[in-house]
Amino acid sequence: MTIQQSPATPSVADTFVVSCIDPRFVEEPAQLLRALGRAGRYSEMRIAGAALAAVNPAQPAWSTALWDNLAASRQLHGVRRVTFLNHRDCGAVNAWAGRKLSANPADELAVHADLLNRAAAEVRRRHPDMEVEITLMDLDGAVQVLPCQHCAPQGLRAEAVEAPLAAQRNPKAFAELVRLRTAHGAQPDPAQERALLATGVREHGLTAEEARQIRARHGGPGGAAAERDVAAYLSTRADKRGRIGSADVTAGAQLYRRLSGGALREQDARVRTVRIAFGAGLEPRAEGFWPFRTQGWFNRHLA
Ligand SMILES: [Zn+2]
Repeated sequence: MTIQQSPATPSVADTFVVSCIDPRFVEEPAQLLRALGRAGRYSEMRIAGAALAAVNPAQPAWSTALWDNLAASRQLHGVRRVTFLNHRDCGAVNAWAGRKLSANPADELAVHADLLNRAAAEVRRRHPDMEVEITLMDLDGAVQVLPCQHCAPQGLRAEAVEAPLAAQRNPKAFAELVRLRTAHGAQPDPAQERALLATGVREHGLTAEEARQIRARHGGPGGAAAERDVAAYLSTRADKRGRIGSADVTAGAQLYRRLSGGALREQDARVRTVRIAFGAGLEPRAEGFWPFRTQGWFNRHLA
């Protein structure tokens, strides 16, 4: 097979998107890539279970198709990044896991996070210089970027990617943008959050830390999707009587900060996490040495 390209209009892309064949999600991947500022600069492959195709030994032909297409897109379009876009309530992943994962959102998140991390490692084994993003889409189209242990290219530090370009430094203009985006209580989802911070760096000449500080000062914290995931996490930590300890709140607050792109200060994240726990019907475990065992660590945050 020969593939002809017009030299006048070279076909270039910087991202190879792997999404699922589920007919409920036809528009969403395009919307996400637009939000990330990559409209028209990605090539997309749809395959059942998305990241599942990279790591499912029961379907070797699917893995082969995925790796062959990635190699082809690299050669033809020069892609340097792979974005895996899994989604909740995925029939292919449910069938592979042998249970209806959506019955337990925290379990579902854990299964997808594991699949996606392994898929990222497989990409990096074949293409050590490629960057990988792993994401999970909700049924309402909100996308969560998941923590990834295998995603950054070797030797490439996050700071290097976020280093400000030659843009004119303009923190006021970025603060104005943040206020607009979060006006009337609107809260961006994690992908939009990242795109917003990236805009502060690329177009307003800020460092990543400055952009985060401005974001925290001029807008609210991460959106409903983040709160739902923190609630799901906390409920997995609760004992049989629905009680959690302060260490669970600390871990929940760290998760919340990650999900909101680091826009929240530690103490604010902790207060919000306690409120989320309270809203989810969870109760504090008494902590400290008798006779000083107390639930005050929890109640302080609800005042
Ligand atoms: Zn699916």
